[in-house]
Amino acid sequence: MDDKETERAEVSLEPPKIQRLEESVVNRIAAGEVIQRPVSAVKELVENSLDANSTSINVVVKDGGLKLIQVSDDGHGIRYEDLAILCERHTTSKLSKYEDLQSIKSMGFRGEALASMTYVGHVTVTTITKGQLHGYRVSYRDGLMEQEPKPCAAVKGTQIMVENLFYNMIARKKTLQNSSDDYTKIVDLLSRLAIHHINVGFSCRKVGVYHGAARADVHSVTTSSRLDSIRTVYGVSVARSLMNIEASDNDPSTSVFKMDGFISDSNYVAKKATMVLFINDRLVECSALKRAIEIVYTATLPKASKPFIYMSIVLPSEHVDVNVHPTKREVSLLNQEIIVEKIQSAVELKLRQSNESVTYQEQTVASSPSSSLGTSKELQPKLLSPGSQSQKVPVHKMVRTDSLDPAGRLHAYLQTKPHKHLAENSSLTAVR
Ligand code: ADP
Ligand code: MG
Repeated sequence: MDDKETERAEVSLEPPKIQRLEESVVNRIAAGEVIQRPVSAVKELVENSLDANSTSINVVVKDGGLKLIQVSDDGHGIRYEDLAILCERHTTSKLSKYEDLQSIKSMGFRGEALASMTYVGHVTVTTITKGQLHGYRVSYRDGLMEQEPKPCAAVKGTQIMVENLFYNMIARKKTLQNSSDDYTKIVDLLSRLAIHHINVGFSCRKVGVYHGAARADVHSVTTSSRLDSIRTVYGVSVARSLMNIEASDNDPSTSVFKMDGFISDSNYVAKKATMVLFINDRLVECSALKRAIEIVYTATLPKASKPFIYMSIVLPSEHVDVNVHPTKREVSLLNQEIIVEKIQSAVELKLRQSNESVTYQEQTVASSPSSSLGTSKELQPKLLSPGSQSQKVPVHKMVRTDSLDPAGRLHAYLQTKPHKHLAENSSLTAVR
């Protein structure tokens, strides 16, 4: 070893110095995680509007959200005194102590969304609270107000504008510009939120660089019927092929939950599955449940194996951990495997029933041309096929033990597969 080499070896053995990152760097790194792309900003803003008890939420987007995202609501507004700290990190009106997380009902609680947006974009807030003669407008950068709030005319509620998203994150901006526009994702998000929050009217439109606002791509009105809302948002043909579904369990030793929703029948044929899932009113993803349902469809309705599913699951709030993901895209549930299995059984039963009633309907039509199609709807499944089981058998067993039945053949597959992939997916393995 010559001198130089010895020197190099010594240098590389020295540990690098650890230094404290500047706060602005920390904040910008964290912001990039919460606001991953334009649609994440829209989600956070709309959830804030929902938390503010709005009944109308309107979204305007320019250049896939990179130029402009504007969310206006008619909610309770923001107090003048709170404007100074509104966009600082970890400032929130929704949580005060850690234990509150157990019973949190609001969408937000981390106090990070608005702050994050000010680190990666230019945020302007216009808001008015009840009983005030005028509102205030103020812009923020890096968590702080750029100047004192200015009085201005305002309509009830809050309007938040995010401009030039990722102006200071060149790499992020470039990848986003190269990939397809986030606008479709934004429309998809609002469609999902709209069919769950049926007491809120949503709209979403994009404005071109040269043209004014286009026709709204999502436009929902407040209604009391979920199916009406699905019809408005997803169209007549989707709504027409939906069946209501419910499942529940109330046994603390297995699982406690209530699910209700809509699932598509054999008439719904699509290129890809749509699964709109709300758990305790949060829009979340649950790949285990999605897969479990798709397996049932593939086995029972192979031609309509890409279903449309809307499900709302309600559990005791202490059974849900909402703080597992910075964007709250996933939650973990107590006894998730059991819940998934129960819902899977309910879907399987429903599909088999609808399949049987279709078969029966065809048979009736074939044997007696005068019979009316309408009556087949009222027929009870137990009256249908000669091979159908007694209703005394518990529903899930009834579905899974008949090995001669085409749907029953699923049994062997379901016994092994779902358990295997549930265990594989660690973020969803949630039995505490
Ligand atoms: P979080 O939602 O987690 O509390 P945010 O950064 O999203 O954090 O928002 C900070 C606070 O700003 C909220 O707690 C809420 O009090 C207020 N706020 C944000 N958006 C609105 C809105 N559209 N209407 C009324 N208040 C809002
Ligand atoms: Mg929020």
